[in-house]
Amino acid sequence: MRNQGIGSWTARRARKTPKRTALVFGDHRLSYAALHDRATRLAHVLRDRGVRPGDRVAYLGPNHPAYLETLFATGVLGAVFVPLNSRLTGPELVYQLRDSGSAVLVHADRDAETLQAVHDGAAPRAALAVGDPVHPADLPYDALIEAASAEPIDEEVGPGDPCLIMYTSGTTGRPKGAVLTHGNITWNSVNVLVDVDLSGDEVMLVSAPLFHTAALNMTCLPTLLKGGTVVLEQAFDPARTLELIARYHVTCLFGVPAMYDRIAADPGFTGADLSSVRSLLCGGAPVPARTIRTYLDRGLAFVQGYGMTEASPGVLLLDRADSLDKAGSAGVPHFFTDVRLVDPLGDDVPPGRRGEVLVQGPNVTAGYWGLPQATAESISDGWFHTGDVAVADEDGYVTIVDRLKDVIISGGENIYPAEVEDALLEHPAVRDCAVIGVPDPHWGEVGRAVVVPEPGAAPAEADLLAHLEGRLARYKIPKSVVFAGSLPRTPSGKLLKPAIRSAHGSTGERDGGR
Ligand code: ATP
Ligand code: MG
Repeated sequence: MRNQGIGSWTARRARKTPKRTALVFGDHRLSYAALHDRATRLAHVLRDRGVRPGDRVAYLGPNHPAYLETLFATGVLGAVFVPLNSRLTGPELVYQLRDSGSAVLVHADRDAETLQAVHDGAAPRAALAVGDPVHPADLPYDALIEAASAEPIDEEVGPGDPCLIMYTSGTTGRPKGAVLTHGNITWNSVNVLVDVDLSGDEVMLVSAPLFHTAALNMTCLPTLLKGGTVVLEQAFDPARTLELIARYHVTCLFGVPAMYDRIAADPGFTGADLSSVRSLLCGGAPVPARTIRTYLDRGLAFVQGYGMTEASPGVLLLDRADSLDKAGSAGVPHFFTDVRLVDPLGDDVPPGRRGEVLVQGPNVTAGYWGLPQATAESISDGWFHTGDVAVADEDGYVTIVDRLKDVIISGGENIYPAEVEDALLEHPAVRDCAVIGVPDPHWGEVGRAVVVPEPGAAPAEADLLAHLEGRLARYKIPKSVVFAGSLPRTPSGKLLKPAIRSAHGSTGERDGGR
């Protein structure tokens, strides 16, 4: 085959395991042969609408087989897939469509108003609707696929060609489009297959959104590369997760920490049959110690990962076998990926000392789409600067401390808010919390805890601070506590610190939002 990219994966799988189930979605099952047939036909549909190698094709919608069909069809043509976050507003979508210069949009489940805004603002050449058409310009996705040619297409696509433009989560600013090549994606899948040890019998339950890199690249693509089955859910629901585990004998699931907490809090958790499960994959944010303990009590250990969109995304992995001994650590670098921790001068720091995480490897992006300056600022001498602070132990296990941008500098001491948040979350009356820096005339900056109490609980400030005494060095203890009804998070569950700082960061405030 001339196509060496991921657009060839369905053809290669259809050659090896045509009858195996690639995808389960509700009552719908798709074999590898059927997935290949649909991706080929869709490639014809897109080509007939003018899509050429290098053109961008965007997908907007919640999890659906059409997402993966569009990804593979785009890869068949050597075009570039642009997954859009389905929670974005009209103007945010217009920005990403225009920024990526997407020629065609495939969409599911968006309202007519948003689609009108998209047509007015970004004017895609064609729009394909999965399900019922929503906008007058919509073309029927399924009908077009069924009417299309099934003739094989074999474009020349190499590992250095762009495969995806994936936007970062926008936790620290406006999302940036990371350009990921077929080589980047393939090497990341190889890293996962080597390190997580997925088998061809894997039944992978994916209910986290595919428009985020982790659900797509750490779970779906490695499973499909290996010939396993992906059980895809449109949205996450804890009770349904437990039901699907039992029904499909799920061997591996993937989620962010908040999802595992919700599963554990479900009334069905205690009596659920989890015997088929081998791995709980978790990433995107640190898994709180209390969550690790809850699952260990059920004999289930987490495989924890650390990564970022720009690394396709796997960087560090903590194996099941280490989950107790090295609890809290994100593990060691993936097989083909290298990591350094450096001080502000760029020198490597010894074990036990904090440094910024730099990453290098065949899975790491060569840069952002249309942002030469941001690219130059993040990549130097072939190392990608993550903006995360971490510390390694004598065995090389790396613990992520926090983001460089969130570090509070108080009287010359660095306070890492994530450590303080972890300690506060151990308090039974604390449902959620964030620690931010506020200006202080004496210390420069001091910590402030923004606390969401458990329903019905009314913890006192003094009680919360007393809880931290003895757990944390004195300088790390916040100087004030404010209460809030909720905290803004990204769809993947990360605290939106810039928004929290602007809502709760003014100095005079004492008791916001309660
Ligand atoms: P933006 O770059 O737009 O500000 P973002 O960095 O949140 O957004 P992602 O690429 O989705 O976008 O997330 C990567 C970041 O998530 C990492 O740089 C790190 O800060 C955090 N992260 C990922 N995994 C872990 C983990 N296991 N432990 C701690 N932090 C993690
Ligand atoms: Mg980032």
